[in-house]
Amino acid sequence: LEAKLSRARKMEAIGTLAGGVAHDLNNILSGIISYPELILMDLPQDHPLRDSVMAIKSSGEKAATIVEDLLTLARRGIATHDPVDLNALVNQFIDSPECANILRHHPAVRMRSRLTPGIGSMMGSPVHLSKTIMNLVSNAAEAMPDGGTIDIVTTLKYIDFTIRGYDDVKEGEYLKLSVGDTGEGIAEEDLERIFEPFFTKKQMGRSGTGLGMAVVWGTVKDHAGYIDVKNRPGSGTTFSLYFPLNRAIPVKDGDAAIPPERYQG
Ligand code: ADP
Ligand code: MG
Repeated sequence: LEAKLSRARKMEAIGTLAGGVAHDLNNILSGIISYPELILMDLPQDHPLRDSVMAIKSSGEKAATIVEDLLTLARRGIATHDPVDLNALVNQFIDSPECANILRHHPAVRMRSRLTPGIGSMMGSPVHLSKTIMNLVSNAAEAMPDGGTIDIVTTLKYIDFTIRGYDDVKEGEYLKLSVGDTGEGIAEEDLERIFEPFFTKKQMGRSGTGLGMAVVWGTVKDHAGYIDVKNRPGSGTTFSLYFPLNRAIPVKDGDAAIPPERYQG
């Protein structure tokens, strides 16, 4: 229990800190992004400093996406009141420039989808759900440096059991969204940490921030859903997200989301 409590406090502290600092950083970054635009308007097309000014702008934009993740993480209680057609959302993601960009960086990775028609819709935040799919797909691609397959599947599931650590999950129909890969899988000792903010096995700051799965966890929690991980170390991982079908989600605000201390498939 003590370990669980200190873990909860740590997560809360991270959330609070992130929320406070993130707001200030946002203001600073908006200057770093907008002034280069002004400078570029005045610089002649062949000016040798154009590339440097553009580099400042794009670094600022990268930092802004990290800050956006921190804010999502720190501020729980996102608006989840829009009807969302999950299949349409997956298809939109597959056709998006973000998805094309991921696959361009991983040419040996192929992506398939098997979306069950007529599964109905859910209440949610389309923006956060798209981001969730993107985070799962980018992790899947990054877990397969030598190539492999990403499978995105949607189905309907009836949940009639209670799940430890998920008080919001009630018996009923759930939309299930799975993203599976044939990659390296997750080491047993890392499995319980992957949803922690800043936990990354990638090169911190360069290829990873460790915020992706924390944001996924918070988003799923805000949708009164739950996450199930099927992990096969050495041969792949499948993340399954369950969202309540067609049910309004009670709005809760307050604390940063705290992942349960243990995940089991
Ligand atoms: P980042 O991608 O920046 O490292 P994330 O929060 O997205 O941060 O993921 C945290 C860690 O979880 C990753 O560094 C990786 O070790 C592990 N992980 C997440 N998804 C997968 C996956 N599909 N296969 C293997 N490892 C994964
Ligand atoms: Mg990631």
